[in-house]
Amino acid sequence: MMSELGLFCPNCGNAVERGQWRIAQGESRELEGGRKNVLCNRCYFDQFELVKLNEKGSIQICSVCEAICRKNKWVDKKEGLEEEMISEMIEEGLEIQRGVKDISWGFSLENIDKKTMHVNCEFEGNARDREVVEKRIVEIKIVREICDICRKKSGGYYSGEIQIRASSRKPTKVEKNRSIEIANDVANRRKLLGDRNDFVSKIVEKKEGIDIRISTSKLGQKISKSIVEELGGSVSTSETLLSEDRDGNKIYRIAYLVRLPAIIIGDVIDIRDGKGPILIKSTGDVLKGIRLASGESYKGLVKDEKFNRIQHVSNVGKTSIVSIDDTYSMQILDPESYHPITIARPTFIGPNLKEVKVVKTEEGVYVLPNE
Ligand SMILES: [Zn+2]
Ligand SMILES: [Zn+2]
Repeated sequence: MMSELGLFCPNCGNAVERGQWRIAQGESRELEGGRKNVLCNRCYFDQFELVKLNEKGSIQICSVCEAICRKNKWVDKKEGLEEEMISEMIEEGLEIQRGVKDISWGFSLENIDKKTMHVNCEFEGNARDREVVEKRIVEIKIVREICDICRKKSGGYYSGEIQIRASSRKPTKVEKNRSIEIANDVANRRKLLGDRNDFVSKIVEKKEGIDIRISTSKLGQKISKSIVEELGGSVSTSETLLSEDRDGNKIYRIAYLVRLPAIIIGDVIDIRDGKGPILIKSTGDVLKGIRLASGESYKGLVKDEKFNRIQHVSNVGKTSIVSIDDTYSMQILDPESYHPITIARPTFIGPNLKEVKVVKTEEGVYVLPNE
């Protein structure tokens, strides 16, 4: 058949119709070799590919924490990250054929086995005024490795430690547990913000308290600050030279010494002001409590050295109330001699009590509120 243009397909020798040629005109590359190189539609679409792409790829996943390695950097696993990376990976190797317009694509993931995943891609585009849909499969190898952070953790790495101690006493179990909780909370919050380097490495029990080993000095600062905000006390830091790196930079390990306050809730203390012992109800910068002699409330600043600890409320004994005489006085049994004695009746002692908690100091015998 004669072509009205005098053009013949170089592949099959059939005439190329006018419409085809006109569209092909826009495809400069096809015309570079001269009009002779214009393929007929059938030959064009027979060997046609919308896109060229890498049909194989791989991703590294940490076998401990499931983090994914993205461009040589480990990132915590999160919803959609895998898809995002795979789409990046495919687009990086993607080549759209000349003359294809309005290209769009999507994909779905299919787990083949533990080590292989298929990315089922579907490309859509327009070539020679025809909508073309092309399905392609990319095979992704899943490489299991151990990420940088899990490697550090398993090696017990730490760059500093928070030492939980208390002034003139040992930290209580409650304080130690709470400190550990705070440390984990702060580290988890940092992790959620994407700071993978921050982690609690180890808790070390000591006679005088606990040490919380942490991976970065920033984390140490934040944790020790949070502990003091909640439990009171103060922080001081000290550095120990560990080594020098190749460039002569000194590497230090930092200790954050958290010294919890000497006084805790439930302590019965004497602040040596002649008004008798105080039962502590809350601590922090300002102490609040109750005067045992009168039942009045107390509020004030107390320096660690300026008081005597008499006892903690959890350790005090009880004694019998003999009689409550009037608003101002009561009779109880002396907790040591068991003789009846008369003491001032504090306001917190109700009229029908039979037994009461009691402390004895050099100045006298004091009863405590029942609670
Ligand atoms: Zn042809
Ligand atoms: Zn990991």
